[in-house]
Amino acid sequence: MNIIVITGPPYSGKGTQCAFLKETFNLTHVSTGDRIRLEKENKTEVGKLMSEYADRGELVPDEVMKRLFGNIMDENAGKAGILLDGYPRTSPQVDTLLAFAAERNAPVTHVLNIEVPKDELLKRAKTRAATSDREDDKKPELHLKRIDVFEESIKPAIAYMKTKMEVFDINGLGKIEDITALISEHLADLKA
Ligand code: AMP
Repeated sequence: MNIIVITGPPYSGKGTQCAFLKETFNLTHVSTGDRIRLEKENKTEVGKLMSEYADRGELVPDEVMKRLFGNIMDENAGKAGILLDGYPRTSPQVDTLLAFAAERNAPVTHVLNIEVPKDELLKRAKTRAATSDREDDKKPELHLKRIDVFEESIKPAIAYMKTKMEVFDINGLGKIEDITALISEHLADLKA
């Protein structure tokens, strides 16, 4: 199983891009955020715990995410490749990803980092608030909080990833289809 990591700030369009890319490259889209929301809907113990953090716009602790990510890896072991959206978000999660990838013979083949400036993220957050039924989208006070979490934790994790492997920075401003085309160029060797 190949692992393709899609990272970037909240509201950068990771989910939208994954929806297109999974079709083109025959990949399975795995969003840790979606997975947490599903566990909450299913009213599992861990779902309840994780959604308490998610609904506050905070990160779920690394140890809890480690268990969830291990399950995700096991469940998808037979797949050709996964588009990993939303993990890793901290430097220890980068180490977990690399350790699990090595143990399970599941190489991280590409890391794509979608970059969008903060003022644009805030604009997009407002638009999403009007249409989304996600708790963390509906509350305007959480938009800034989630962007702060990006600055404090996810951005350093991306910098750390850059010391471990090649990370392609993608300009996330512009038309959705142009950004998809740019990302697709980087993934072209997956089709070979
Ligand atoms: P997302 O849908 O990717 O924006 O994720 C929604 C929320 O789920 C985040 O704000 C976090 O609370 C939680 N979450 C998702 N992935 C992770 C992760 N890798 N580490 C910690 N928390 C996460």
